[in-house]
Amino acid sequence: MDERTDREPTQENGGVAMRERVGRMGPTYYRSLETVLWTALWPTTESGFSGPDANRRCRAIAEVLRRLPLDWYEQLLQQAASDEDSFSWFIPHPLMRAGLWPFPVTVHPPEEAVLPRAPHARMLYLSPTLERAADAIVVAEVAHELAHIALAHHVARMNDYEAQEAEAWALVRTWGFVHEERRHRTLRAKQDKAERHGG
Ligand SMILES: [Zn+2]
Repeated sequence: MDERTDREPTQENGGVAMRERVGRMGPTYYRSLETVLWTALWPTTESGFSGPDANRRCRAIAEVLRRLPLDWYEQLLQQAASDEDSFSWFIPHPLMRAGLWPFPVTVHPPEEAVLPRAPHARMLYLSPTLERAADAIVVAEVAHELAHIALAHHVARMNDYEAQEAEAWALVRTWGFVHEERRHRTLRAKQDKAERHGG
């Protein structure tokens, strides 16, 4: 994975010492690349199968799926294959300017639900702008969205947005994406600051 910006010692990571620690330990992979392909969790597109090297986002998905702890991996596999909590990936090509896509219905809410909802498509969208982001950032984004799915968060309910965000990021760290989550948080803080200063 891309560790380029780890060369910059910062106050937060303790400088060089942290860099050496990250480099020495490295992430834990629980399964091979071959194992995570051809499952209900792997993205398929209208044109068929997307390989793990199709683009940066697909590489990040492979990275996340290989590193997910077994219990969560199996839960997500089950959800991906189910009728109630499933989702589709939406990974538009960077040069795709417009288009029409038939999104399959992925969620059939139970009829006996207190607030019945219509069947709908839940899309996990990964922006083409991620192709220009560092690998660690893309991995953090993928892990974060999968955490929302694993935690059965209600995407359209915005009143507990902050709580859901915190819960999803906490799970991402539990899964072992500590370095990626930190990189993402640092980037977000930088972007927020730039926005506040109007540039
Ligand atoms: Zn979120």
